[in-house]
Amino acid sequence: MRVIAIDGPAGAGKSTVARACAEALGLEVLNTGAMYRAVTYAAISAGADTSDNNACTKAASSAKIELSDRVLLDGVDISQEIRGALVTSEVSTVSAHPGVREVLVEKQRLWASQHGGAVVEGRDIGTVVFPDALVKVFLTASDSERARRRVIDEQSAGREANFADVEADLARRDATDSGRSISPLVAAKDALILDSTTMAIDEVVETIVREFLKREVLQ
Ligand code: C5P
Repeated sequence: MRVIAIDGPAGAGKSTVARACAEALGLEVLNTGAMYRAVTYAAISAGADTSDNNACTKAASSAKIELSDRVLLDGVDISQEIRGALVTSEVSTVSAHPGVREVLVEKQRLWASQHGGAVVEGRDIGTVVFPDALVKVFLTASDSERARRRVIDEQSAGREANFADVEADLARRDATDSGRSISPLVAAKDALILDSTTMAIDEVVETIVREFLKREVLQ
């Protein structure tokens, strides 16, 4: 399958890079973080305890998530809601549940096969979801640069954000995502490690597209 896996911490530029790579190669983008956020929203809306694996797994199994440029849950557009403070503060707890991951990993594999491959962004794409991806990327950036970008994203989406809060939220999510026992945020052994603090986004995209085209020919 034509898959590019892009993993890395929040705010490293994964979505921007994924969109540009997909456009260059005629692929679709699958944002798996949006899926974990949608399940978190579903669990909270159902009144579930976000630390309860069974309740969250139930929410994941029954959620009908549709992804395009919008995110629909059971036919309702929740694109705005999943970016709000409550979902953002709970998503790492919900996504650490093994049952939730099992359900979503299966949905992600199915989605990519139905779309003839994809640029898939997340935390465990190269390590767990698509270990055979043609290109695996681990995209990083310095903590302060990631926080700076997130503040700009939040403010341009009309949400209030201050640097200290955003930086603290990123640090907390990074720690939970990297420290969990199942599918932790870690670079795959064969991933290209790219740092978007020192590389321009265009340069990152060119590197990935070039690598993909080279490997596709060799297949
Ligand atoms: O990418 P985004 O920052 O929107 O992801 C939100 C959260 O979803 C992450 O902090 C992480 O807890 C979870 N996630 C995950 N595995 C993925 C994608 C996201 O655990 N593949």
